[in-house]
Amino acid sequence: MEIPEEIICVDCGGRCRIGSYEPEEGWSEGMVVFYRCLDCLDRWDIVIEK
Ligand SMILES: [Zn+2]
Repeated sequence: MEIPEEIICVDCGGRCRIGSYEPEEGWSEGMVVFYRCLDCLDRWDIVIEK
């Protein structure tokens, strides 16, 4: 499945870049992906949902 390379930071509205490497078998539901905000440097751990 496809997941976004970037998400919007809930705190500051900035861009969060993906910080996890895609596994060989690809992303699937229930995996945790982390994003790092480029503006406030917050880390966001996102659980992939369908
Ligand atoms: Zn931010």
